[in-house]
Parts: sequence; structure tokens; C-alpha cells
Amino acid sequence: MDEVRPGRCPACKAPSRPAGGALGLHGHGLRERHQWGPVEPGAVSTLISILLRRYRCRSCGAVVVVGPRGLVRRRLYSAGAIALALVLYGVADLSPRDVRHRISPLRIVGATAAAGWASRRRWSRAVRGGRLFPIVRQLPADAPLRQVAARAATTLAAYAPGPGGLALESAAFLGASM
Ligand SMILES: [Zn+2]
Repeated sequence: MDEVRPGRCPACKAPSRPAGGALGLHGHGLRERHQWGPVEPGAVSTLISILLRRYRCRSCGAVVVVGPRGLVRRRLYSAGAIALALVLYGVADLSPRDVRHRISPLRIVGATAAAGWASRRRWSRAVRGGRLFPIVRQLPADAPLRQVAARAATTLAAYAPGPGGLALESAAFLGASM
């Protein structure tokens, strides 16, 4: 638990481990979350279960949840998986069916769901509304969703660590996971 305890409370900045004092952030249990999507850009999509450690601040009462990078609040899919979907939709122009095949861990869906997989458009709308990947510069409200997805893909790719030269799919996946 000590390995992941944050250095200070993100809400009130109280130190988590004041010298000689009681712990400022103390353990507040675990929470389980599922994360969907490939764990690396070229991998088969999976559904993994993650345990998040929770801390409670003694000063202000805030509950702090610590999890791995790449987790997106209130979304089942990882940041990398969503970024990959935006590349495949916005830049590679794959069909909804092919995007779903790369991104979704669910192998069996109804024919209608496969044909009209809506997640890529829903994510693009969230980007356009600033609710997902807010670092992406806004396009005009009437810009086509594919164009929004393409801009998100290239923006996220620019955040990929390392010397560059990665394929767009890998760069966007890694940049979104930072
Ligand atoms: Zn606090």
C-alpha cells in the first residue's frame, strides 16, 4: 500500500506522511474496475479486472483513488483503446465492424450491433464536446465526426513518449495512456 500512496492529498495538499505525525492519507479499501481493450496497440482486445486502491485524507475527507495509467473515468475502455479506435475510424477509415473487431473484447454480438458499432462515434462526440481527451483542440461544432476523430488521433500521437517514428496507431495508443 505504501508503494502507491500519493505524496500529498490532491484536494488540500496535506502531506500524506508528515514527519513524526499520523498518516495524512490512510488506506480506505479497494475498488474493482474493469478495463476493456487491447493492452498494447497490436494485441487482441481483452477484458481485464483492476484493483484500485483508495485513500482517505484525514484533513479534508477527500477520497483519493489510485489506479494505473490509461484508465478513463466512467468509461469501460482504456484510453489507449479509445485512441486506437479514433485512429482506425478517423484516419484509417475502417468500417465500424472492423474497428469493433480490433477494439472490443466481445467476440459475439448481434449482426446489427456489429454493423453499426456506435462507440467510435460516441467517443468522437465526447472529444468534440471536450468531455474526453480535453487536450484536443476544438473543431467547429459542425465538423464531421471523422474529422474530430482524426484530429484526436494525431494530437494524442504527439504525446507518445520516446524518439518518435512510431506508426500512428501505436503513437496514439501510447500518447493517450500517458
Ligand atoms: Zn485533503
